[in-house]
Amino acid sequence: GAERTKNVLILMSDTGGGHRASAEAIRDAFKLEFGDEYRIFVKDVWKEYTGWPLNDMERQYKFMVKHVQLWNLTFHSTSPRWIHSVYLAAIAAFYAKEVEAGLMEYKPDIIISVHPLMQHIPLWVLKWQGLQKKVIFVTVITDLNTCHRTWFNPGVNRCYCPSEEVAKRALLDGLEESQARVFGLPIRPSFCRAVLSKDDLRVELEMDPTLPAVLLMGGGEGMGPVKKTAKALGESLYDKELEKPIGQLIIICGRNNALAATLESLEWKIPVKIRGFEKQMEKWMGACDCIITKAGPGTIAEALIRGLPIILNDFIPGQEKGNVPYVVDNGAGVFTRSAKETARLVAEWFSTKTDELRRMSENALKLAQPDAVFNIVKDIHELACQRGPLANIPYMLTSSFSSLI
Ligand code: UDP
Repeated sequence: GAERTKNVLILMSDTGGGHRASAEAIRDAFKLEFGDEYRIFVKDVWKEYTGWPLNDMERQYKFMVKHVQLWNLTFHSTSPRWIHSVYLAAIAAFYAKEVEAGLMEYKPDIIISVHPLMQHIPLWVLKWQGLQKKVIFVTVITDLNTCHRTWFNPGVNRCYCPSEEVAKRALLDGLEESQARVFGLPIRPSFCRAVLSKDDLRVELEMDPTLPAVLLMGGGEGMGPVKKTAKALGESLYDKELEKPIGQLIIICGRNNALAATLESLEWKIPVKIRGFEKQMEKWMGACDCIITKAGPGTIAEALIRGLPIILNDFIPGQEKGNVPYVVDNGAGVFTRSAKETARLVAEWFSTKTDELRRMSENALKLAQPDAVFNIVKDIHELACQRGPLANIPYMLTSSFSSLI
């Protein structure tokens, strides 16, 4: 019938924590807004269906960001369109069949890509299948500012940009104004809609009920100078004269188990909690008073929603660089690579400069875009409605694309 459930395929990759978080945010917002009207599949298609190098992207990415200069080179050397086109064309020719099989399995009415490398190949496959007019394809960009050009593909129905700056780049790169929309970065609805009381959260998380709290983290992989900063905070948040702590420290190490183990082995004079990968970041952020992190877009957008002043202590060259002025110029935080400086700042915020902390918190809330994810799914829903009642999409099992190459 006309009212059948529509399939939505979200293409992501587990590089860092940000792409998965965005994909899950969109999935959850679809469920909240439209219930059973849509069936959502979140897939790391490359990992499941293709061979090297695409199924190995996660490992390669981790390797490259650990060797920062290599990542810097990769990011910038793949920027001219002709280089990545040739590179992608070669990969596409090799893996089209597998990608096609992935699309066949989920029979999507709507495809949402939240990864810079996941527009070209699926769009080509749709074209060769004669489906580009039937299947809605949208991109949700998850970098706040200096994003990579592979994100922009003029073949999409919509390109959701988290900021005006990204939208400008999209238009320069050949997208039409009718394709670009600026709603903000999609953040999990558990962040956007929940009304959380700090006091209740502190009880639930077994934190000190009264001491101000700083949250220290480094993205999904626990990157950046976490250990050095933790040690410095251990000193600066302890009042030697009064022999008591002036603050407490929460460290979320993400998937970095080695970091968590090292931190556990240290002695602390202040209350400290060391955690691995946390599923309820909104609670930890809601229980704290400020955050120290590398300049990951997901973490920044979440901290803004919770009104947390941000100390940025690192960034991945390329896509995260522009996140620094985004935070600093808007008065929602500061940037410093020095662990000592960071520790001194937090100690001041928790003692003599509480007004500065409050002002930054207000600026953070002004920048926050908690409704972004809902505006994105509503816009996609409108696109789907404009197509009218969707007939069953004729996904063919004959592999026209691959046989043509
Ligand atoms: N995150 C999480 N649990 C953790 C650590 C991180 O859910 O223990 C989430 C975090 O809330 C954010 C994402 O992982 O949504 C990190 O994304 P970001 O863009 O900041 O950095 P990335 O890890 O992608 O480099």
